[in-house]
Amino acid sequence: MGPVQTVNFITALNLPTVSITTLKSREREIGKTLEEYAKWSGQKALEKEIALRKIPDTTANIAGNEETEVDGQDAIHVSFDGAWQKRGSGRCYNSLTGHATLLGETTGKCVNFGLKYGDCRKCDHVDEKGDGHDCRINHQGSAKSMESELAVQMVKDIQKTGCVVSNITMDADSTTIARLRKEVNAEIMKFSDRNHVRKKVSRDLIGLQEKHKISMNVVNYLTKDFSYALSQNKGNPENLRKVLKSIIPHAFGDHILCDKTWCQYHKNPDTYKHKSLPYGKNLTGEELRNELNKLFDIYASNSEKLSHLGSSQGNESLNNMIALKAPKAKHFGGSESLAFRVASGVAQKNEGRSYITEASNSKDK
Ligand SMILES: [Zn+2]
Ligand SMILES: [Zn+2]
Repeated sequence: MGPVQTVNFITALNLPTVSITTLKSREREIGKTLEEYAKWSGQKALEKEIALRKIPDTTANIAGNEETEVDGQDAIHVSFDGAWQKRGSGRCYNSLTGHATLLGETTGKCVNFGLKYGDCRKCDHVDEKGDGHDCRINHQGSAKSMESELAVQMVKDIQKTGCVVSNITMDADSTTIARLRKEVNAEIMKFSDRNHVRKKVSRDLIGLQEKHKISMNVVNYLTKDFSYALSQNKGNPENLRKVLKSIIPHAFGDHILCDKTWCQYHKNPDTYKHKSLPYGKNLTGEELRNELNKLFDIYASNSEKLSHLGSSQGNESLNNMIALKAPKAKHFGGSESLAFRVASGVAQKNEGRSYITEASNSKDK
């Protein structure tokens, strides 16, 4: 958000029109309100996440076998992702600012967010040091450690409220989960992103192309079946295992293991044709079938883990929303501006467009 957009924003808040020069202090004032509002919105989302998980038949509990409590405490599943703004200027900086979000699995809303500042533009000027400015520096270590520090801090915050984070979906490096287990919750489980598994299956299949004649059509067909099985059997490892074991035989025209709910062969065995395989024909070749079976058996034997795969796509879309509000090229990271923009992204994600008027009303209370 540049100055012009900011003026529009302020106009939307029904505040007296201001000149660009006084904008910064105004922005600060509005920003503070927004930050408080976003924090409140996150707490509300956390309460809703806990409440919804207790209702059977919500998405997260569709199989009815997910724990909603750990040692008598409420337990939730979250997804985590962060984004980093590199700060560049005339002088060369290696420092970074970073922000990260935690989304509840059931509601998809942001239950916590955090920011890391490795430096401060005002502190860089000797004459402004110690002038009582709103200094946000809260990170001393390397830029690389920001991600794990944010994850630790945000999960800790949530657990302080008496709710256990039993499960985290993320694409972060192994340091992050190691630190979470060491510093916050030794039992926390990590689920990787469903998209990454889909890509891995596709790569595995492409790897078979060296030895076997399988077209990209077939690769895509099997990958699609695989990811459909994953999305349909969330929280249901036993059924996922069955479906994964039937996909290859099905493609080769052997439907004994197929479930009638998705395999159309059983409706019309005589006229059945595969919709997405070349010419509707069965795959052929003993050796290919064995290799494909071997590959899918590996995934089937990991069905427990696979059935619990979450997705951090929601975090990514929120990060994109924040990136639009805080273009990296404009180096907002160096001041508290980024905090305000993260807060407004969170508010928009959780409360929708109405957050602008709601935040301004909460200011008058
Ligand atoms: Zn400072
Ligand atoms: Zn079948």
